[in-house]
Amino acid sequence: EAKYEASLKKTRSSFGERFNAFLANFRSVDEDFFEDLEETLIMSDVGVELAMAITEELRGEARLAKAKSQDALRALIVEKIVDKFDEEQLPSELNLQEGLSIFLFVGVNGVGKTTTIGKLASRYKKEGKKVLLAAADTFRAGAIDQLVEWGNRSAAEVVTKPAGSDPASVVFDAVQKAKAEGYDVLLVDTAGRLQNKDNLMKELEKIGKIIKREVPEAPHDTILALDATTGQNAIQQAKEFSAVTPITGIALTKLDGSAKGGIVLSIVQSLKIPVKLVGLGEKIEDLTDFDEEYFVKGLFK
Ligand code: GDP
Repeated sequence: EAKYEASLKKTRSSFGERFNAFLANFRSVDEDFFEDLEETLIMSDVGVELAMAITEELRGEARLAKAKSQDALRALIVEKIVDKFDEEQLPSELNLQEGLSIFLFVGVNGVGKTTTIGKLASRYKKEGKKVLLAAADTFRAGAIDQLVEWGNRSAAEVVTKPAGSDPASVVFDAVQKAKAEGYDVLLVDTAGRLQNKDNLMKELEKIGKIIKREVPEAPHDTILALDATTGQNAIQQAKEFSAVTPITGIALTKLDGSAKGGIVLSIVQSLKIPVKLVGLGEKIEDLTDFDEEYFVKGLFK
């Protein structure tokens, strides 16, 4: 939690300072108050629609008019935002199975997909699980090497084929191996070529089919990696990926370097997809689960 705390500093220094300045200017809960609140939320990348919705709900909140102190106001606003997460009733944890769990990772190059897989592999290894990685981003030789590197770091095995091989055949081999050798977790890295949506869709469909043939209820999660520093662009990416394949969770990376923490709210609300993992740095241990209450409270400190 201490790390989470430290890493959120940048996000908070923008979001929180803006918000604190807003609260410091607070005289009375009037029309100016609501307009300033809405603007503060929009500036923090909460998204226009959601900022409007939160402001609108607070307008109808009788307790707000009675709030006498900044702290009381802050608490009410935090409560309203946490409620917004709760409303969605989304599962916030990875869908880990008793037997083999298969998690598919998608996302455009550079967002931190491979890093997230490496960090997660290390977490599961530390828990004593048998972890296998599949290098199904065969489009770039660099991507394969990078996953092998993360496999070394986390002491997880990696299934690879030469660059240019059929990604589905890598996945086939990996699933076979995972089943035959009693692995607990299989993490599949894929090529995120959003520039060519038809190909990407076909590729992911084929990978999905091969997984399902071997393990009918898998993949147990399809995780989209998004870079928090890209703000609203991340939302656009998520929309495009969702049109290609069903996404069941988000890994929000680089939150340590982002002044746009409000993006988390925006993602959950506009996409109805839960954030399941948060990247807080480049190191192997810089990965955490997403705790909405802790996160929102952290933002508003
Ligand atoms: P991929 O192309 O999506 O697989 O992205 P990579 O995993 O190769 O990551 C791209 C860059 O982002 C690398 O330099 C990573 O070290 C960096 N990166 C990934 N996750 C994080 C994070 O949570 N915080 C920070 N600061 N950097 C990250």
